[in-house]
Amino acid sequence: MVELTILGNYGPYATAQGACSGYLLNVDGFQIMLDCGNGAFSKLQKYTDYSKLGILILSHLHPDHYSDIYCLRQALKYQMKQGKRQDPLFVYLPEGPQQLVEEMKQWDDVFALASLEEAGKAVNDFNLFTLRFFPVQHQVPAYGVQFGMQGQALLTYTGDTGWFPGLEQFCCGSRYLLAEASLREYELAERGAYHMTARQAAQLAQNCGAEQLILTHFFPEANLHQLEREAEQNFDGKIHMSATGRKYILEL
Ligand SMILES: [Zn+2]
Repeated sequence: MVELTILGNYGPYATAQGACSGYLLNVDGFQIMLDCGNGAFSKLQKYTDYSKLGILILSHLHPDHYSDIYCLRQALKYQMKQGKRQDPLFVYLPEGPQQLVEEMKQWDDVFALASLEEAGKAVNDFNLFTLRFFPVQHQVPAYGVQFGMQGQALLTYTGDTGWFPGLEQFCCGSRYLLAEASLREYELAERGAYHMTARQAAQLAQNCGAEQLILTHFFPEANLHQLEREAEQNFDGKIHMSATGRKYILEL
């Protein structure tokens, strides 16, 4: 069984009770965390025993996607000291910004780092599931990820990205699309290179043949009803508005 739990769904800052980007994929008990933004580690503890995390994927190194790694590091260190965990956590991340990556490289007692630039060259096969990484369009090196099982692309996460021609190709064939919807329409001209609107996310889902769209990475002041309506006008499938604690069983 594959279960997706939303830990945090805001960017670049969260609401009073909310958290920034963080998603937990439970694959028959194997736990994959997608992004670890501010507040996401706190929420994670509500839904799982984090000492059992198998893989962490950082789509890019902006604070709303990685900043809780500082807390996670301390927590894992303590867990290892207590004998509750032996192995470092496998962390996929981009090779830049260099200063941040260099800092994280020093934490090799708790993290085993893997470059997304390298991992993106092939399908990463973990027997039970596969991970495909693809570069997206953002201010810093950033990646999306496609999770697959039994030869079927199940979930694609866009991370933060502006729409670009190759994006549909990367997302194609995935039943579920977890897509960012950061922008309001009037912001598109100024910031459209790096983020998408709900309309664009919906068009992406429509064009790449997804069955269900989960919208995420909301600006805290955005009107979510309006975003949902914009998405509905451009996608025939089912639309979900992400929220902390929401769970989705992903069916093959
Ligand atoms: Zn972000």
